[in-house]
Amino acid sequence: MGDSVKRLAVLGSTGSIGRQTLQVVRRLSSRFRVVALTAGSNVALLSKQTDEFRPSYVHCASSDIGRQPPGEPKTLSPEEIAALNEVDCVLIAISGNAALTATLAAVRAGKAVALANKESLVMAGGIITAEAKRSGARILPVDSEHSAVWQCLAGEPQPPARIILTASGGPFRDRSPEQLAAVTVAEALAHPSWQMGPKVTIDSATLMNKGLEAIEARWLFDMPFDRIDVVIHPQSVIHSMVEFADGSVKAQLSSPDMRLPIQYALTYPERLANPDLPRLDFATTGSPAAALTFEPPDLTAFPCLEMAIAAGRDGGTRPAVLCGADEAAVGLFLDGKIGFGDIPQLVRAALDEHHAVTDPSLEEIMAAEAWARQRVSSLGAEAGRC
Ligand code: MG
Repeated sequence: MGDSVKRLAVLGSTGSIGRQTLQVVRRLSSRFRVVALTAGSNVALLSKQTDEFRPSYVHCASSDIGRQPPGEPKTLSPEEIAALNEVDCVLIAISGNAALTATLAAVRAGKAVALANKESLVMAGGIITAEAKRSGARILPVDSEHSAVWQCLAGEPQPPARIILTASGGPFRDRSPEQLAAVTVAEALAHPSWQMGPKVTIDSATLMNKGLEAIEARWLFDMPFDRIDVVIHPQSVIHSMVEFADGSVKAQLSSPDMRLPIQYALTYPERLANPDLPRLDFATTGSPAAALTFEPPDLTAFPCLEMAIAAGRDGGTRPAVLCGADEAAVGLFLDGKIGFGDIPQLVRAALDEHHAVTDPSLEEIMAAEAWARQRVSSLGAEAGRC
């Protein structure tokens, strides 16, 4: 193995981003060595991945460490794995709020942190970016929008005047609030252009996802919220845009396939050919890239977008409450306990009740997140009884 072999830890390897990361690694196998894999509950897939990639360390949140047979990969926690000397790059694909502690561990250890999880930056962006400055950790965005902005900024000496995040609008783009109330779980999970895990797919349908991404952009690119705009672009071909002082706009385009931003984060600053990555077709009528359209988001039908941006502007513990409340509300919706239209109402109720802490510690952030999850669970249970 030469010096160019990157030693990877993939945290959340059995989820949608984790599986696509391993597809990229399989394709570019001479470039990477998988040192560690972690998963939540999919023991069967984790053991298949372990057989194939032969990591030195594994972790499965739901499995019993005591059953580990000798000679098998060693079990360490995701936080321990994120800080290992023998790891160069930590890809964080853990879904939801649970990713925060592992993200911080990787950042504190000064790793290249390929960050697919958005909640950790949303909840604790101030702490994470300050720790990254101290340790020299580099945060490499994997989310397609932030990867697009990052790619547009490459080679530009000046900061952008404006970031324009694109949103597909999800499956319910044209529906009224009344129609949205009747949406089923299956409909909400059928995203028109992206293949993603259940939490982010529901967040895309409510536009909460775009609000979380605006907060992420604020931290990743040090941009004030009044210079971050959101535009609906149903084809999901332009992944975001950057406007400069002179009015020039750069956009990054590609087929909606997460393997591209994953690969760019892993091989940055190099771009490598990968036959798995689809090409755009601009000239065939009916192909998504042949007819790009834009429209403003419907803020009345999708109140989560503004709610999230307001929580981001307020700062303190409010973004953590937003994340905790949203995670619980999405969970209740996926379990069939509340309707689609109840998601923004429950998140708003938690934000309204919360007594925000300004300049919070990590402990205060985690306490606010846990409180919001708890609060929405009990509000949801009350709603279910009526
Ligand atoms: Mg995204």
